Amino acid sequence: MNISYMFLRKNKLVFINSLTFLACSMFFLSCNQNQPASATTIAPIQNQQTKPTSATTITSIQNQQVKPAEIKINTKKESVETDAINNTIIPNYAKNTIAGILIDAWQCIEGQEILVQDLTTSYADNIKCSVSIVFNSDKLVVQTTGIPNHDLESGFGCCASEQNREWSLPLNPLAVESNNYSMAPKRGPVAVAVNGAAIYGPEEGPGGDAVALHYGKFIEDRQPIQLGICGGHSGPGGEYHYHYDANCIHWHPDTSAGESANDYSIDKLDSKNHSPVIGFAFDGYPIYGFFGFDTYGNVREMTSSYRLNDGANGYNGSDDYTYEKGLGDLDQCNGHFGATPDFPNGIYHYHSTIKSGSGDMGFPYFVYCYYGIPDESNYSEGQGMGPAGGLPSSNRPPPRPPRRR
Ligand SMILES: [Zn+2]
Ligand SMILES: [Zn+2]
Repeated sequence: MNISYMFLRKNKLVFINSLTFLACSMFFLSCNQNQPASATTIAPIQNQQTKPTSATTITSIQNQQVKPAEIKINTKKESVETDAINNTIIPNYAKNTIAGILIDAWQCIEGQEILVQDLTTSYADNIKCSVSIVFNSDKLVVQTTGIPNHDLESGFGCCASEQNREWSLPLNPLAVESNNYSMAPKRGPVAVAVNGAAIYGPEEGPGGDAVALHYGKFIEDRQPIQLGICGGHSGPGGEYHYHYDANCIHWHPDTSAGESANDYSIDKLDSKNHSPVIGFAFDGYPIYGFFGFDTYGNVREMTSSYRLNDGANGYNGSDDYTYEKGLGDLDQCNGHFGATPDFPNGIYHYHSTIKSGSGDMGFPYFVYCYYGIPDESNYSEGQGMGPAGGLPSSNRPPPRPPRRR
């Protein structure tokens, strides 16, 4: 019943769109010259068509057995509304939500925007990180330029440019049964970092594991890919995004000692304490950095539970890995339920991983599936980014020579 309706609705949309297109072709001149309003009429239809996932969201919510979130929210941070976030008043109903409790995690908020240098270019880029936050009835809406709060390297996708991104995160994540987890996109955005930059899935345009490639595990003969500082680079449309790490969001070079963003490395991170929040998955659950609490409450680097298949090297992306329960600390989605400094009573959360329990690559690096129901409006479709995997290689900007350090 639901599915038929969905198809019907889809066909209807396609039909309406074709009709509009036909009308526009026939009356092209009058449309453009005398009726500028027709452009506005077309736009919403196009937007609707580019969001086929919304119907899927409804279907999956109806079909899935939603269990209440297993979260005991700690209310000790009640002082949070006395506002780290300028001009953001947390409504009462949102104060004890995950987004409300973690409101201080956001960087680049008003008054804290940072001008950032793209180290791939030799000129002053004048690109700025900026994040603004609005609560609506059940979502946290994040508007951002997509520029991180640290200097970056665009790499071959040069160059990072300010985006006009809007991310929507559920205030109260709804956990689903494990057999109903929805897969995160393997390519394109899967989460948003607390500085407003995008977090992408593990695969790059040609389908290889971008991180395994970066670590020289295989030769990419389809399209040159290069990751920069902190596991990020720029893609089609100039959108900066992370494929792994992202922990430098909370690492700041000691400029008085002559340090710069180039000096960032994973071994400079604080491994003695639990990592702070580095982002939010599209289901609303937080993503913490590398270091978390093990089952004994000791801090150590969290490991993923995917094993590289025999003879594989990441060339085939996700197809080269198999989930093995218990191999590392985390589950198939790359998260676990447990205490964090923000939620001493426990919460489901993801971790950024660079190592697997097998000792190999920490695939999937951030989020592989969603423990809760994701807001699919965040996926690439409809945001002018082309398909989730980025544009075909022929449409990508030409590669630039790597910057020498
Ligand atoms: Zn990428
Ligand atoms: Zn953890």
